[in-house]
Amino acid sequence: MRTFISFHEALGTVLSAASALSVEEIPLKDALGRTLAGATISAGPVPPFASSAMDGFAVRAADFESESTDLENIGHIAAGAVSTIKVVPGTCIEIMTGAPTPEGCDAVAPVEWVTSREGERVVFKKGPTPGQHVRPAGEDVAKGDQVFSGGERITPAIIGMLATLGVDPVPVIRQPIVAILSTGDEVVLPAAQPRPGQIRNSNGPSLREQAIMAGAKCDNWVHAPDDPVLIRAAIDEAKGVDLLVISGGVSVGDHDHVKQVLRDAGAVFDFWKVRQRPGKPLAFGRLGNTLLLGLPGNPVSSAMCFEVYGRALIERLSGRAPTGNPTLKAVLGKEIKKVDGLHFFTRAIAEVDEEGVLRVKDTGPQRSNLYGSVVQANCILHLPEAGGYVREGTLVTIEMLPWSKLYASAP
Ligand code: AMP
Ligand code: MG
Repeated sequence: MRTFISFHEALGTVLSAASALSVEEIPLKDALGRTLAGATISAGPVPPFASSAMDGFAVRAADFESESTDLENIGHIAAGAVSTIKVVPGTCIEIMTGAPTPEGCDAVAPVEWVTSREGERVVFKKGPTPGQHVRPAGEDVAKGDQVFSGGERITPAIIGMLATLGVDPVPVIRQPIVAILSTGDEVVLPAAQPRPGQIRNSNGPSLREQAIMAGAKCDNWVHAPDDPVLIRAAIDEAKGVDLLVISGGVSVGDHDHVKQVLRDAGAVFDFWKVRQRPGKPLAFGRLGNTLLLGLPGNPVSSAMCFEVYGRALIERLSGRAPTGNPTLKAVLGKEIKKVDGLHFFTRAIAEVDEEGVLRVKDTGPQRSNLYGSVVQANCILHLPEAGGYVREGTLVTIEMLPWSKLYASAP
């Protein structure tokens, strides 16, 4: 087992340990937020036929040589209908938006261009140029086009395109099943009245929602006190999940039993401890086919490490590419002193200033027990390991939090 490795090595290890789960077909109406499996190739052109973009008249552009033209209306085509007659010189066919353009026409004159109508004689104040107000077949997507490459998280817009292409049911990657286990003798239920020395469980509830937001299926979290037998029972209970996230008990305290209990159960650890703050005692390994992410109990460490490592894992298992929250470059608005030799996940607020420049500042004190910093933050400011001081004006990398106001991801 490696120990005290760099953030990049840790994230690389975590990502290479996971790969996309199996493919399943589900109804399109249930596909929001799921990941498309494989490429989507269009079986036909979109739109499927040439149609009118306006309510008006299907015409021959060549008939409009003089400034004003009158034509004989020889028919009517509603959306959904197909004309059996052709436009021939001197004639037009009334047509509605979305109706297939009839043979013989090469343009549509909108109804607004009609100056008078008497019987079947229609007088136009001007005529269209060839192709005007006609939507050609295949303008959006040609037959055989690769519309999606696979790995996309399905958005409402993707649902619309899949519906247009007739992809229902839709092939998706199976949703990763995640179990959350919090540990600690001092931790009680959120609804409980803590006795002296006790605190309410915040990691279980927040980690569950983070896992769901990252695309996992996650039943309620469970909690175990710092008792090896009870921790083991909870781990056995989670058997078969794709990822088991455990909060607390991974440090070196007398009551930190999680790693040993997992080892006794047959787990293998890839690493323990990362040169990062918060979240130094992070542990990662596997127990059979279940990946294990051991997070420090501090609520800030737990939340940040989950966003960085847990989300990446769930997205990799979901077959998503790329993985991780979107990253951006921002200008540091206020200097930051950090510890040289540790990668920092600084809770920060990114805002676009009056000149349109994205600027970022930390949320204030960054101690890992101050959960308010997580609540205020809309991003994680990544400060690289090397260096102890980051000057105002430095271009820095930020990772937008999925619940942030700037960049919200799909449910
Ligand atoms: P640990 O990693 O178990 O040493 O815990 C580190 C700190 O996080 C301690 O102050 C714990 O009380 C706190 N903590 C551990 N688990 C939770 C939890 N589920 N919710 C809130 N705080 C916790
Ligand atoms: Mg503990």
